[in-house]
Amino acid sequence: MTIEIKLILADLEMMHLDHNLRFKILEKVGIYSARFGIAEPKVVLTTREVLEMPKEITQGRRTSAYKYLGVSYMMHNLVFINVKKIPDEKTLENTIVHELVHLRFPYLSHGKRFNKLVRRGLAGKIFKPYRKRCKNSS
Ligand SMILES: [Zn+2]
Repeated sequence: MTIEIKLILADLEMMHLDHNLRFKILEKVGIYSARFGIAEPKVVLTTREVLEMPKEITQGRRTSAYKYLGVSYMMHNLVFINVKKIPDEKTLENTIVHELVHLRFPYLSHGKRFNKLVRRGLAGKIFKPYRKRCKNSS
């Protein structure tokens, strides 16, 4: 086998891994979204994808997104999972659940109650679907 072919195969393997990871993350997001009773969010996995989104969607956490393990753009049902910054499987799972807790409990800020919901989510709890409260439904 020539070196050239080996390099091409190495490249293919990288892409394959990437694709697998992307698929795995989307799968996890799907599973947890169902458990949280929320619509599956759109998921982006690179800062480049964040920057490619319309500014009105990502405003506030756009050029700063790279600093975080994950970011929820709650008004737009969009989640950024910063794969590059995530060291291991456990952190990945944590980050996904953390961001989905933001989507399911948008009125809740970080704290004890928030962390408890993350732990429950990780433990496989099924939540009632989130309903936006509306005065005088129309
Ligand atoms: Zn958070």
